[in-house]
Amino acid sequence: MCSKKPGITAEITITGGLMSLYKSKGVVLKTQKLGESDRIITILTGNCGKVNAVAKGIRKTKSKFGSRLEPFTHVDLVLYKGRNLDIITQAEIIGSFSEIRDSFDRITYGSAMLDLVNKISVEGERDTALYNLLLKSLKVVSQTKKNFRLLLIAFDIKLMAVSGYMPKLEQCVICGKKSGIKMRFSFEQGGIVCEGCYSLDKNSIVITSAAVEMLLRLMRLPLNDVVDLDIIALLEDELHLLMRDYVTYYIQARLKSRECLSQLI
Ligand SMILES: [Zn+2]
Repeated sequence: MCSKKPGITAEITITGGLMSLYKSKGVVLKTQKLGESDRIITILTGNCGKVNAVAKGIRKTKSKFGSRLEPFTHVDLVLYKGRNLDIITQAEIIGSFSEIRDSFDRITYGSAMLDLVNKISVEGERDTALYNLLLKSLKVVSQTKKNFRLLLIAFDIKLMAVSGYMPKLEQCVICGKKSGIKMRFSFEQGGIVCEGCYSLDKNSIVITSAAVEMLLRLMRLPLNDVVDLDIIALLEDELHLLMRDYVTYYIQARLKSRECLSQLI
């Protein structure tokens, strides 16, 4: 539900009650069956945060929605406020990102992005940075042919940053000592810890200085440029496992789409 009601366009009478219509642009994150012919569509919108809304009759062959409300699609919507869930009355495609559905790699890594955004976004809470990051990432995924895993690592670290979970990487998170050669990474403390401090978190893991540097670089580098990076496989493996565990620690859940990525190593 969008609490601030931005962009209310009209009030119409439906089955005897006054209903508010509103417009929103968003990316479809997920769909679930509802009853015989409907679906609940989860959308990350630009103005209302995450929205769960019903698309009535969408599973009928002659549905007016066609394939406009499939995951990855960037859509322009008209919705009205229902008692529990909002109802989608119109959907126009802004960008289908159809290239993502045409490739196994793109759909695998793109789904891992959608799942994490779904997990981290909040209903009714506008998050422009998250919305822009998702749109930009899907655009890059839809156009690239390589470096999918590094792209996901870069996406994850950027997403952690816009969500306020950016790990502290420039100095020991406990004593402030500059990062050196023998550093460990503490999930609990949210960053790197030096040799002197790591006894405060025995669960911290070894991290190479190359991994610390690369994470800082991925944080700053536009996603378009990440695609062209050439890094050694061992370093990419280290970053993949680190970010997988870091994300899992912060969202307190394992995502199915991420489990299958680890089996691909
Ligand atoms: Zn320290």
